[in-house]
Amino acid sequence: MRFANLNHRGVVVIADRAIDIETASNGRFGSDPAVYADLANHAALADLAAAAEPDDWPDVDPTRLGAPVPNPPKGLGVGLNYRTHAAESGRELPTEPHLFGKTNNCVCGPFDDVIAPAGRHEIDYEAEVVIVFGRSCKGATEANAWSYLAGVMCGQDISDRGEQFRPPIKQFTIAKSYDTFGPTGPYLVTPDEFADRNSLDLKGVVSGEVMQQTNTSDLIFSIPALVVWLSRYMTFGPGDLVWTGTPGGVGEARTPQRFLHDGDIIETTVSGIGTMRNRVVVR
Ligand code: ZN
Repeated sequence: MRFANLNHRGVVVIADRAIDIETASNGRFGSDPAVYADLANHAALADLAAAAEPDDWPDVDPTRLGAPVPNPPKGLGVGLNYRTHAAESGRELPTEPHLFGKTNNCVCGPFDDVIAPAGRHEIDYEAEVVIVFGRSCKGATEANAWSYLAGVMCGQDISDRGEQFRPPIKQFTIAKSYDTFGPTGPYLVTPDEFADRNSLDLKGVVSGEVMQQTNTSDLIFSIPALVVWLSRYMTFGPGDLVWTGTPGGVGEARTPQRFLHDGDIIETTVSGIGTMRNRVVVR
């Protein structure tokens, strides 16, 4: 299934039509998009989708799509999870995942503006796949890891490199959690929709130039491996997000460096999900 937050209401998307969950369920479910982040509701939502006549419902208006999970209980990001990014950063390959927080204020929609604070000149893009937990998860195994996930989305892990690497110690969380620094969307897609859920093409384009291109089969720590490692220490639940890492090609590591400017358009595509398009606004 494909889910979206259309004008602050949860919808199931079939053939680009938006089936409003509250209306189609005659009020059994409310309008809150949180309903589809909970795997406990997926069987009923599948029944609802199967019964729906898409022609009876309106087209999805992309300009009205918000973040599929607008208020995640928690969010984390993985640093250095593709060999190409580790190499361009001049760092050794990690032997276990490195994580930072992405606080929920940073989440914004797939077509929202990314606000670069005036006076900050090292704002950078990171195209990523974001996973969404769908049920309580502690002690997952490689074999059952996917069964805890409600789905996946496109994501950007926007970063203020000046703040991230400010001496004498680094601080990733604040530098990657400014308001609007976590675009996600355009849809939350359930894992069963993919021919191979462990092989998703990911592409990041800035103002028409392809900057990043990879496939999740190149992850150092695969999505199941991340779920296993993280759930060894933390309990996850419906709506929790993990940005799974970015491949090589970030602006900071390019020669010359390519940071984001006012008016840049960041396009982020994951095969089988869709494309986000976020404009950079300096303010
Ligand atoms: Zn990242």
